[in-house]
Amino acid sequence: MFEIFSIPAFKDNYIWLLVRGTQAFVVDPGDAAPVIARLEADGLDLVGILVTHHHADHQGGIGELCARYPAEVYAPASESITGTTRPLRGGEVLDVLGTAVQVLAVPGHTLGHLAYLAPGVLFCGDTLFGAGCGRLFEGTPAQMSASLAQIAALPDETLIYCAHEYTEMNLPFALTVEPDNAALRQRSAAVAHLRRAGLATVPLTLGGETGEKATNPFLRCTQPAVIAAALAHTATVEKTAGPRSGIEVFAALRGWRNNF
Ligand code: ZN
Ligand code: FE
Repeated sequence: MFEIFSIPAFKDNYIWLLVRGTQAFVVDPGDAAPVIARLEADGLDLVGILVTHHHADHQGGIGELCARYPAEVYAPASESITGTTRPLRGGEVLDVLGTAVQVLAVPGHTLGHLAYLAPGVLFCGDTLFGAGCGRLFEGTPAQMSASLAQIAALPDETLIYCAHEYTEMNLPFALTVEPDNAALRQRSAAVAHLRRAGLATVPLTLGGETGEKATNPFLRCTQPAVIAAALAHTATVEKTAGPRSGIEVFAALRGWRNNF
């Protein structure tokens, strides 16, 4: 399996660097300069680029990287992405530096959004964030809800490498939804500590006492406290249980978050 390193970019993006021997992949290179600097400092050859979606902060560096390195570009087939050589739709299995990586379709933030699943490790772009989730720029609440459910169904120990350091910014909303969630309060204190020390909160953990499943409101849309908070905030959520209610709670939370 490859090793994983972060290359910080812009204000709060993470470009993930995957390394095995002298070969490297990057995930979502929004900016080429910090990637090139790192590759040169570490004597690495870039052989592949994984792209989750078309937003500039995830693909802006591809042109410059490909002008310099003969890298394959794996990207959503349905989105406009510079230099794509391997168009993907989800369901494929890739060979990434000798490791089998599954491609998951996770529409919601954008319609062609992909996530890349290696053993125990998920690169999810702007789908799931620490204590939050991506905005619905293109997809519907039903699509995003299904995409998040797909992620939540992964093994608890899965490490989630999302593309932004948003956890601390997301926690006040999560605490507003669930002020009595002890795990969430504990996580909030731990995250404040980490960030004050200049440390990353990503990768995220799915399971565990203060993991996403215990503290991220968008993964908790069937919890009574979350349903109650969504109901109190908006009258659009049905009071009956049923297959649609999780999605409606999700939609209510996402709308609430947008104006928070
Ligand atoms: Zn985005
Ligand atoms: Fe982004």
